[in-house]
Amino acid sequence: MSTDNNTEHIECLIIGSGPAGYTAAIYAARADMKPVVYAGMQPGGQLTITTEVENYPGYPDGIMGPEMMENFRKQAERLGTDVRYGMVTKVDFSGKPPYKIIVDEKKEVLAETVIISTGASAKWLGIPSEDKLNGKGVSACAVCDGFFFRGKDVAIVGAGDTACEEASYLAKICNKVYMIVRRDEFRASKAMQHRVENTPNIQILFNSETDEILGETKVEGVRIHNNKTGEKTEFPIQGFFVAIGHQPNTEVFKPYIDMDETGYIKTIPGSSKTNIEGVFACGDAQDKIYRQAVTAAGSGCMAALDAERYLSAKHAPTLTA
Ligand code: NDP
Repeated sequence: MSTDNNTEHIECLIIGSGPAGYTAAIYAARADMKPVVYAGMQPGGQLTITTEVENYPGYPDGIMGPEMMENFRKQAERLGTDVRYGMVTKVDFSGKPPYKIIVDEKKEVLAETVIISTGASAKWLGIPSEDKLNGKGVSACAVCDGFFFRGKDVAIVGAGDTACEEASYLAKICNKVYMIVRRDEFRASKAMQHRVENTPNIQILFNSETDEILGETKVEGVRIHNNKTGEKTEFPIQGFFVAIGHQPNTEVFKPYIDMDETGYIKTIPGSSKTNIEGVFACGDAQDKIYRQAVTAAGSGCMAALDAERYLSAKHAPTLTA
């Protein structure tokens, strides 16, 4: 990457515009760090594809996900954040800051600090009815949307810890939970498996794969097949949850940033610091456990405070004897 005299110099570059990124921006703007947010492929992040958010404190009547993210953006902008459309397509974290960052494969900026808040994307089954009924009874977040299915029958696909945790959560709210598991065993930890096995209103369907989610304008049922016997079964449900994992959006940072085997960024416990000086991570890009808007926002605050402290320490006058 080359730089020229026209290359923009940014004190605090925030990559991603979900609750983590905008909260980092709010704090960074108030600390006079003149943050620039590149909003990414899906400005506003995962909450822009949810319906009502009822578990974010401060909204006693709930709020629609897209509207909430609009509010986050307005608050960040009012305090002085420069929010821009654009995807970071390349970074160079070799050497010392400022780091060269390429946006949309052509624009080059230099950043003194970088806050990574690129989030994660839910994995989907990839069948047409899942797409058609997304937000109309199909969801990838039981904690966000389970409440809407109080007393109803639902299905959940997956056999990992998330699926087990979400099935247990749904079982407390819903009448019946069908768990659709593609193999004849779970991937989840034994403790989580036992929990679902011992919950009377969870029915586990092993060796089962989803053919179609039924319904035109809302979920009305599901058709599955047994991959050992070929037998097809249809049953009525009102909600269909997909819990087959998430993919953190961290590919672009891979050459430099320490991550776990699935691509979640490793941060130093109790902080947002990564292995690279001046680069901080927050939100779902580094959190595979909690993944809530409020926890993402909290970690965004941490990242901005860490970035501010980093810059203050760097610019503090050094005392010589
Ligand atoms: P995992 O990758 O662990 O599990 C994904 C599950 O989805 C697997 O059972 C997999 O099946 C199934 N699956 C994948 N693709 C399909 C498909 N196309 N059709 C049907 N089923 C499919 O993801 P999780 O989100 O569950 O967990 C991610 C990480 O987070 C794990 O390390 C987990 O331990 C951790 N976690 C920990 C929690 C805790 O400690 N409280 C809570 C939640 C997550 P198969 O097994 O056949 O591959």
